[in-house]
Amino acid sequence: MDCIFCQIIAGKAPGEILYQDEEVIAFPDINPVAPVHLLIIPRKHIPSLADLSEEESPLIGRMVNVANQLVKSEGIAESGYRLAINCGEEGGQLVPHLHMHLLGGKRLSDALG
Ligand code: AMP
Ligand code: ZN
Repeated sequence: MDCIFCQIIAGKAPGEILYQDEEVIAFPDINPVAPVHLLIIPRKHIPSLADLSEEESPLIGRMVNVANQLVKSEGIAESGYRLAINCGEEGGQLVPHLHMHLLGGKRLSDALG
């Protein structure tokens, strides 16, 4: 098991688990680019968004729902936030386990690309 996010899920690598259920977990990004920078990931090792099957696609809704819960506890539900999924090399994906970035706590860059 050489996937760092699978290791965090298995408790074999450090990570402060902020949320978990049977399908999804969330923890802080190790290299935050905003005051709030969390990662929301499926427990299932899906390498990227491009590998998500149609049957698995409800997972994305669950991940968004978890984000919408976390922004309340993080105190940024009203100020605003951004959800981002990088996919593949040109999409800027570095860790090959599907994950959603939750960013907030400051005025985020207008630039998306
Ligand atoms: P991406 O570029 O979309 O693949 O984002 C990967 C993110 O994972 C980066 O923001 C990293 O800082 C973060 N990351 C990598 N390793 C860890 C780790 N062990 N714990 C928490 N976040 C990590
Ligand atoms: Zn994995």
